[in-house]
Amino acid sequence: MTVNTSQIKTFIQAASTVINANADEVTELDQAIGDGDHVTNLQRGLSTLDGLADSLAGLDWSATFQKMGMSVMSTVGGASGSLYGTLFIAMGKAMKDKDMSLCNMADAFGQGVEAMKKRGKSDVGEKTMLDVLVPVANALHEAAEQTQALPDVLATLNQVAEQGCESTRDMLPTKGRASFLGERAIGCIDAGARTSQLMIAAITGVLGETAV
Ligand code: ADP
Ligand code: MG
Repeated sequence: MTVNTSQIKTFIQAASTVINANADEVTELDQAIGDGDHVTNLQRGLSTLDGLADSLAGLDWSATFQKMGMSVMSTVGGASGSLYGTLFIAMGKAMKDKDMSLCNMADAFGQGVEAMKKRGKSDVGEKTMLDVLVPVANALHEAAEQTQALPDVLATLNQVAEQGCESTRDMLPTKGRASFLGERAIGCIDAGARTSQLMIAAITGVLGETAV
């Protein structure tokens, strides 16, 4: 099953739009407990992926995710570049010889998030993007098993992502730059958790529109 490059572009552009629209808020979050470059890192990654999309024509989902991961890894700086690069590369491996379906996607995303945990030596509860991505991966897995209707699945994913993002507010950071601040970082949402949640909202928004 080859990818639809215009569909991939639509996802990337929806993610870019939501990151650009919330850039000031996210930069404030990252300036408060990080170094303030998170939005720039993500924008560089998204624009790299946008430029790459046309060259994905004719590839299957495995090769597509691999290529996206390699390019994010090599062009985006910071923790987020290496973590999102790892996510896509692991998803590419998981999609080898598989068609796109909710089950296969849930499985690939789950394996991708597991690879991020290993790469970042981190897990939920450490005030990072994983506080959004791990519960979303779990919810996706459950949804795939229960064969819920797509609008319900998308609503659940969004709700879980919002809760995960908000949960970082009261956490003590133990990974990444925020960990240098220790208790002073309590009370602030993690920038990477917020952008993960925003991009999930963007992607589920596109899926909700294209499915009707
Ligand atoms: P950097 O912190 O290197 O400047 P970014 O600003 O692009 O990179 O990304 C920061 C985000 O990366 C944080 O808000 C956090 O969500 C995430 N992060 C940082 N370190 C880790 C880690 N070890 N595991 C998981 N996520 C991490
Ligand atoms: Mg940073």
